[in-house]
Amino acid sequence: VLEGKIGAQASEVVQVLVEKKLKPKQSHDFQLYDRIMKWTDGLGRLKIRANADLPDQAAQALAFGAQGIGLCRTEHMFFEKSRIGIVRQMILAGDAEGRRRAIEKLLPMQREDFTGIFRVMGGRPVTIRLLDPPLHEFLPSKNEDIDEVAHGLGVPPAQVRERNEALRETNPMLGHRGCRVGITYPEIYEMQARAILESASELRRQRLSVSPEIKIPLVGHVQELRTVKAMIDRVAAEVRKETGIRLAYLVGTMIELPRAAVTAGEIAEEAEFFSFGTNDLTQTVFGFSRDDAVGFLPYYVDHKILPENPFVTLDLPGVGALIELAVERGRATRRGIKLGICGEHGGEPKSVAFCDRIGLDYVSCSPFRVPIARLAAAHAALDRKRGRA
Ligand code: PEP
Ligand code: MG
Repeated sequence: VLEGKIGAQASEVVQVLVEKKLKPKQSHDFQLYDRIMKWTDGLGRLKIRANADLPDQAAQALAFGAQGIGLCRTEHMFFEKSRIGIVRQMILAGDAEGRRRAIEKLLPMQREDFTGIFRVMGGRPVTIRLLDPPLHEFLPSKNEDIDEVAHGLGVPPAQVRERNEALRETNPMLGHRGCRVGITYPEIYEMQARAILESASELRRQRLSVSPEIKIPLVGHVQELRTVKAMIDRVAAEVRKETGIRLAYLVGTMIELPRAAVTAGEIAEEAEFFSFGTNDLTQTVFGFSRDDAVGFLPYYVDHKILPENPFVTLDLPGVGALIELAVERGRATRRGIKLGICGEHGGEPKSVAFCDRIGLDYVSCSPFRVPIARLAAAHAALDRKRGRA
């Protein structure tokens, strides 16, 4: 522990690429980095995308060499200060009409969010995931916060408490979240789909290229995806009618539940792409809670019960086997289905090598891990060619 503020600065690579404080010529470290990155160009087969939720993160990802966005988590846009009040109004509304009235106020804001990201990415693929977390995450839980929020919204604190109570779940990660919220409260996904499609259509009207990919979280049964996809296609038809713009877009799904992996053949009848959510998939295959496993996983690894933390390095015999099964079944139904991974493993070298070996199209990781993923993808391709993988 050091007392006081420690002088710190970003690495020179970041200073050149992101902060633009240094010119490439001024940094020896950057030149070394750049030389290694250039060696990787053209070697790897895997494309490298980034998980980015905001335009500035997308710009960072591009600076590190990302070729698209594999996961834009839209819930982060809901938590923003100017919006959380509207989201809470929506959750507190007693019926669909009230929810719709509240959520419509978010439409222009979401449209702006997506426009920002599409502009930065300039025609590269952008995969936007519709809302995923359980709704209670947007409500305050502490007593003093409940009073303050209720006051701000002009509702009695008892109403917020009641709603909180109604939404409380024993196992929220296995509860009312992902597409389950989108199906039971369709107005949320309708608004998000409209925001994506209107924003992309407007950019097309300006003759800019856009490649939107709409991703549905936590699908476990094909009928869930079918229901949400039909809704998105209906909204798309409305937007086409209103704007006169014919827009190309993809609808696909996260594969992050064992049932989705096993029934990937059926799911691929609806899904134009699969994106393996290996955080949730690891959680549900092991039956480990992501949040609670930190209590015993270090012991497991120290005592060699598990070779590695499966939330860090993909568990190939278990989670990996399910992914391979899903790839095989998904391709059997839809030969050219686009396949990627967007869990934390997407930036971990051994997991990247596995993704290369089973023929995924891309890995997606946080912007700062993109260089590691590029290097890992190049190593994996070289090893494969030399027959080492
Ligand atoms: C995942 O489950 O792997 C994933 C990327 O989604 P999230 O971490 O947001 O649940
Ligand atoms: Mg997930």
